[in-house]
Amino acid sequence: MDFDINKIREDFPILKQNLYSGQLVYFDNGATTQKPNSVINIINEYYSKYNSNIHRGVHYLSEKMTQAYETARKTVKTFINANSDTEIIFTSGTTESINLVAFSFGEIFINEGDEILISEMEHHSNIVPWQMLCERKKAKLKVIKLNHFGELLLGELDELLTDKTKLVAITHVSNTLGTINPIKDIIKKAHAKGAYVLIDGAQGIQHQKVDVKDLDCDFYAFSGHKIYGPTGIGILYGKEELLNKMPPYKGGGDMIKSVTIEKTVYNELPFKFEAGTSNFVGAVGLDHAIRYVQNIGIDKIAEYESDLATYATDAISRIEGVKIFGQSPNKSSIISFNIENIHHFDAGMVLDKMNIAVRTGTHCTEPIMKFFGIDGTIRASLSFYNTKQEVDKLVEGIKKVKELFG
Ligand code: PLP
Repeated sequence: MDFDINKIREDFPILKQNLYSGQLVYFDNGATTQKPNSVINIINEYYSKYNSNIHRGVHYLSEKMTQAYETARKTVKTFINANSDTEIIFTSGTTESINLVAFSFGEIFINEGDEILISEMEHHSNIVPWQMLCERKKAKLKVIKLNHFGELLLGELDELLTDKTKLVAITHVSNTLGTINPIKDIIKKAHAKGAYVLIDGAQGIQHQKVDVKDLDCDFYAFSGHKIYGPTGIGILYGKEELLNKMPPYKGGGDMIKSVTIEKTVYNELPFKFEAGTSNFVGAVGLDHAIRYVQNIGIDKIAEYESDLATYATDAISRIEGVKIFGQSPNKSSIISFNIENIHHFDAGMVLDKMNIAVRTGTHCTEPIMKFFGIDGTIRASLSFYNTKQEVDKLVEGIKKVKELFG
């Protein structure tokens, strides 16, 4: 498929919408992405025609729904190049995926005095579960620090990784700074020290090719809603050998082979980690979101977004009094900035009245805010359905904010 931006925009009904005084300009893709018709329609179709609980029924609808759910698992498996379907666990999103690992992996692999290494640029979802685990197990949380370009100080990695490091949990792409971390190198170094690695892929999966086999990561977590799929569905990829050693995270239906009052025998992978009724229609929605991305081509998406981000960064940084946070040469299409003497909330509210949706605040990364000595930023996160004309509107909007508050 050719990258035809007009045709692509036609696929996203929400983008045609007028807000206060004109067409919506949606630059809050880091928080959640919009959905193409193929995703909206398939969800409608499955609720209209096939809604039925999976795995437990012999009737037509249940079999049809189960088949679609398991097909979705295969689509994810192929998309990230996992070895097997059994390595793909459906969760409610990145947050649950990370909590699953923190609880389950933590239960058997982490002991008193062990170390878990995270970074200063993590989303709270990749900080708090590890703090909770460390408290539970009397383990130690260590941190890879940032520099002023918003990059990790990886020169310190050799010192930070010790024989006690059991897990490194690191983001693929920073949701605030846009920095793309050299995760393949980090994984290699961590493995050399005998540590496992979890990658928070919430901002990675939708912007570039992810090949878990090539990366050799032990876990990769992402959310459906950030890759044009529905909310309430997400993925935990884990190496089969490791997942097999981990105990279930939640108990309930579907994760068992047999139950007596005395004893339960747990189910096999991946069902062992999918207790209770899954978001099966959400999984079908995610399947179609991934197919949509595959149809365009993730490499074409990456190229278009990179070009758009360069255009936006150049234009925004030329505005006097604007400071961009996150200056790594290896960046995703996320631009965080502040305007001198103007609070980010005020700027966000004025931009909103100009029909421009940006996110303001800490973006669930308070340690980054502390590092830069700020209490928030304005964040424009760009997707392949955004255009240079929309970037121009944002630039005009920022100038208007300056005029109003100047
Ligand atoms: N990690 C990163 C880097 C994120 O950007 C986000 C969400 O913004 C999350 C984790 C949490 O994702 P979710 O709320 O979908 O679980």
